[in-house]
Amino acid sequence: MLLGCHVSVAGGYYRAVERGSDIGCTVVQLFTRNQLRWWSKPIDEDQINRFKAAFAENSIIDTVFAHGSYLPNLASPNLDIRKKSVLSLKDELDRCDKLELPYLVIHPGCHMGIGEKKGIQNIIFSLKEVLEDNESDTLICIETTAGQGTGIGARFEHIRDIIGGVDDKRVGSCIDTCHIFASGYDLRTEGEYHRTIENFHEIVGLERLKVIHLNDSKGVCGSRVDRHMHIGEGNIGVDAFGWILRDKRLHSVPKVIETPKKKDGREMDHVNLQILRELVGK
Ligand SMILES: [Zn+2]
Repeated sequence: MLLGCHVSVAGGYYRAVERGSDIGCTVVQLFTRNQLRWWSKPIDEDQINRFKAAFAENSIIDTVFAHGSYLPNLASPNLDIRKKSVLSLKDELDRCDKLELPYLVIHPGCHMGIGEKKGIQNIIFSLKEVLEDNESDTLICIETTAGQGTGIGARFEHIRDIIGGVDDKRVGSCIDTCHIFASGYDLRTEGEYHRTIENFHEIVGLERLKVIHLNDSKGVCGSRVDRHMHIGEGNIGVDAFGWILRDKRLHSVPKVIETPKKKDGREMDHVNLQILRELVGK
């Protein structure tokens, strides 16, 4: 089962491999640089080698991939911001390539008032720029969003339009359960769950789905509130996670939790992962 969590790289990339395997992850998601800054110092050879060695030696972890930093906005109407975002994403793709990570998950961006259509056009142009003259094998996975503010990605059609517009096999997608639920795709009954996944398949295509984020939702269905909750403690409820984990169509898709790290001072990743593992056999 390809199941794990988002892990800190504090102390070095190789530490993420150790942290993940300590709690039984077979999949690890990490940031390749400080997610709240535009730039970080270049990645050094020693770090790359230590990471690769740790990954090769570790028999539990199957897949390690990256989540992009938060500042870039490929949809921005401001040309300077968009240029900066393209350069920043190129740098992250380069880091992923050096670490040989298969996926880089990114948020599509915010249109800031110019409307979804223009925002999506900006994302398409920006991604084309990121990918031109780039030899990287890393796939950029566009994440579904809750649709807070002017955020693009709350409809599966947005993801389809971006992927279709860039028209490059190095662009895929990532479903986040909290985000799709908050944006209005219900997951609370088995029927609703299947309708939502079939809807995604018809519009985007499950062959484009490379990563799933498993998070419960603080907001109700359609609330557009992006607040992740512990598995089974939000409005989605525990059942949906069982349907996802037992769904053969999604078997080979790596799944990670991005739930709150702590509750009442207690570490929670291993607790949430254990709940999910138990659902697999049910
Ligand atoms: Zn997510």
